[in-house]
Amino acid sequence: MSTIFEKIIAGEIPADIIYRDDHLICFPDINPAAPVHLLIVPLKPVPTADDLSDDDAALVGHMFIVARDLARQHGLAENGYRLVINCKADGGQEVPHLHLHLLGGRHLGPMAGRS
Ligand code: AMP
Repeated sequence: MSTIFEKIIAGEIPADIIYRDDHLICFPDINPAAPVHLLIVPLKPVPTADDLSDDDAALVGHMFIVARDLARQHGLAENGYRLVINCKADGGQEVPHLHLHLLGGRHLGPMAGRS
């Protein structure tokens, strides 16, 4: 069964796609945790970070370079931002299609609870 992100990639579910290239798309998170909250989603359906292969190194690097550029375009570069990839249940991953969160626009506080 395809994930919600595969449906967005296929155009079956609408999303405000603000960037697209041959390897990934980017759209705003539907439930933003910060004034800027974008999702950078590879077209390739890799379920989790744990499923990445050595051959995916360039893809992962590209995701970060696109995140850098989007952060600059959204005025986040000077004050900074956060890039997050959640992996599986303990990492809080909800959608089993690899994606990079770009969060910024306010001070984000500590990275995660320490409990
Ligand atoms: P994660 O918990 O890392 O798997 O993140 C999944 C993210 O996808 C959550 O922050 C959701 O708010 C977001 N999300 C789920 N469905 C949609 C959608 N249709 N459009 C945009 N973002 C979505």
